[in-house]
Amino acid sequence: MNETAKIISQAQNEGRKALLETEAKTICTEYSIPVTRFKLAKNAGEAADFAEQLGYPVVLKIVSPDIIHKSDAGGVIVNLKNKTEVQSACVKILENAKKYKATAEIAGVLVQEMAPQSTEVIIGAIKDPQFGQTLMFGLGGVFVEILKDVTFRIAPITREDALEMVTGIRAYPLLKGYRNTPPVDVEAIVDTLVNTSRLVMDNPQIKELDLNPVLVYEKGAKTVDARIILE
Ligand code: ADP
Ligand code: MG
Repeated sequence: MNETAKIISQAQNEGRKALLETEAKTICTEYSIPVTRFKLAKNAGEAADFAEQLGYPVVLKIVSPDIIHKSDAGGVIVNLKNKTEVQSACVKILENAKKYKATAEIAGVLVQEMAPQSTEVIIGAIKDPQFGQTLMFGLGGVFVEILKDVTFRIAPITREDALEMVTGIRAYPLLKGYRNTPPVDVEAIVDTLVNTSRLVMDNPQIKELDLNPVLVYEKGAKTVDARIILE
């Protein structure tokens, strides 16, 4: 059995619907979707050791089956530049998680490479009761939340479909570059869309998938947060 099937059946056996970020990112990797390198620490000492191995700056995040939206729980701290900062951020994140939900089960604290700032896009999939797995694309933040500037296609999609999804949003000119901002790697977004389509078509137990955000660069793209919800 492949890694993805193992992760999904383990979650189902434990009665969990939401996969942990570590699990979702491992699945992404199996489908050639680039994600930030990460290691799961059990305590502040281990977090500092992992940060040294990954290289600074790093981001720390809470990993808990009971905390879906990590920043709402004070569970994400970015731009940590040395061992001391990592250790205190780790203590802080565990404290915040306790305050947010005293009974939350904690799997650990995720130490990950910090991706340089860039244009943020969102790639999603949702299993529509009528149409089945459906993919979504949009720019991050206000573009999706307020302007609802998104495109949809029913999976499976071809590269041509994926390109239409990217060029179909109203904000597409922003991806082509403006003023001092260079154009982003549209091919890298197309790759991620097609790989996401494969991922959800191979795994019909997935009800929702969210790569939010994916940072896109002049060359390449990197998913910094991945969420997968099972049926
Ligand atoms: P949430 O569960 O709240 O969605 P995220 O993992 O998306 O948590 O983290 C919140 C925000 O922090 C992201 O939208 C992104 O802007 C930033 N962030 C998270 N991880 C990284 C990373 N590895 N590199 C750079 N920025 C990150
Ligand atoms: Mg997120």
